[in-house]
Amino acid sequence: MTPTLAKIIWLVFAVGWALLRLNPNRRARKTAVRYSGRDVREFLLLAVSLTGLGIVPCLYVAAHVPRFADYPFSPVASYLGVAADIAAIWLFYRTHRDLGHNWSVSLDLRESHTLVTTGIYGTVRHPMYAGFWLMALAQVLLLPNWVAGPAGLVGFGVLFFGRIGREEEMMISAFGEEYRAYMRRTARVLPWFY
Ligand code: SAH
Repeated sequence: MTPTLAKIIWLVFAVGWALLRLNPNRRARKTAVRYSGRDVREFLLLAVSLTGLGIVPCLYVAAHVPRFADYPFSPVASYLGVAADIAAIWLFYRTHRDLGHNWSVSLDLRESHTLVTTGIYGTVRHPMYAGFWLMALAQVLLLPNWVAGPAGLVGFGVLFFGRIGREEEMMISAFGEEYRAYMRRTARVLPWFY
């Protein structure tokens, strides 16, 4: 493994994620929304996350910016990064399959929204966000740069902690006791821990 190959691998997984989202995005545009929690705050959270997981690492991979923040490359770390990215892509695939038409990039409830508690959603309540945490971790492990590496963890962390409470409140308002019971028997992203 070399630093250049690690950069290419980061890019391949980022593009893979974007391709995986094409169909869900298309379907989401066609699925009617009954309630939307999209507001300025949600827009800013999404922008911060996109910056940390996308724009900052892209600048590093494409233009080696900011060069001053480089630290020595570790092949072992980069292999762990590949493993984390594989797990993340698998989670994105599974979650889109299980969520189906209920998915949206922001806080939306669909006209025919159903509560999904089976498949990967039987293990944790936010497996897609678990996937983003893994993708952000892979970024740290693949890109040996103090800015470009941790930017994903910071950016997605802001989205996650800024959104998660509101998302769960929205689900409680829609599904009431059914969602509360689901909360009691599942963790958010890490089985048994959180
Ligand atoms: N937080 C989830 C889903 C992310 S997509 C995860 O990480 O896997 C965000 C949308 O999914 C929200 O607008 C919400 O309406 C919907 N959603 C979240 N959990 C859901 C569930 N268990 N069943 C159905 N829809 C859900």
